[in-house]
Amino acid sequence: MTQVAIVGAAGRMGRMLLRAVDEHSALDLGAAVEHSAHALLGHDCAQLIGANDATGVILTDDIVTAAQAADVAIVFTLPESTLHTLKHCSEHQCAAVVGTTGLDQQQLAMCAAYAKKIPLLIAPNMSVGVNATFELLAKAAALLGIDYDVEIVEAHHRNKIDAPSGTALKMGEVIAAAQQRELSAHAVYARHGQVGARQPGEIGFQTIRGGDIVGEHTVIFAGDGERVEITHRSSSRSNFAAGAVRAAAWVVDQPPGIYGMNHVLGLACS
Ligand code: NAD
Repeated sequence: MTQVAIVGAAGRMGRMLLRAVDEHSALDLGAAVEHSAHALLGHDCAQLIGANDATGVILTDDIVTAAQAADVAIVFTLPESTLHTLKHCSEHQCAAVVGTTGLDQQQLAMCAAYAKKIPLLIAPNMSVGVNATFELLAKAAALLGIDYDVEIVEAHHRNKIDAPSGTALKMGEVIAAAQQRELSAHAVYARHGQVGARQPGEIGFQTIRGGDIVGEHTVIFAGDGERVEITHRSSSRSNFAAGAVRAAAWVVDQPPGIYGMNHVLGLACS
């Protein structure tokens, strides 16, 4: 059995992952790691998922022991703590699956450096449906071309701390790549006041935050006299957790390097 450490185990995704690992036939929960100030440190993980039977795994802040014991870590925390986790994973040959979003270019470069020593999968969205949507977007972007104005609208719950979502940014990258251009040269992240007419080729991002919305993304390709919309809606975090455990079971057998969900699912979009 592959031993898994879940980092950020008491978070919204962490709790889903505890259940998903428990239900996976090839994965075994080896460690559950949390922030050193978390109130449930020292308690059995059963408390986190409302299970009656003890799991035998105690919530800890000891990332070093967890990385030593586990074959693969699944990390859904914050960018800084994700890098701290990867440092210990790379020192102890523990593969990693990173779902944390909001990593900047410098932090992504540090991830790539750690991936020289361990297999590391990073995906802003682990859902199979979202990754299939990336493929549809690439196809639509190539077919419609830059005469169709692209707007990416995303909605998430009130507690999400980064914007636009990592998934929305990835959608922008996929569309830009399909049209042989760079997202950074065409992205527009906010409009307010006398901004003037829309510039040709802009890729706009609009962010909605509220309530308990799990995650919704709509990409609008607006042309003259028509528009195409491609939408993905998550109704539960279980699809992210299912994708993450599938990624963990896959990445543990790979050579060192950096991977995405496209590799797990055999899709073209990187
Ligand atoms: P959350 O705030 O509910 O959980 C994060 C957890 O990380 C918290 O319990 C926190 O205490 C813990 N944490 C913070 N610092 C830590 C440290 N140093 N060591 C260990 N644990 C630490 O957030 P969430 O909704 O579970 O989301 C977590 C991240 O995952 C966010 O970046 C979110 O955008 C991302 N996310 C990604 C996907 C995906 O498919 N890739 C899906 C959903 C969420």
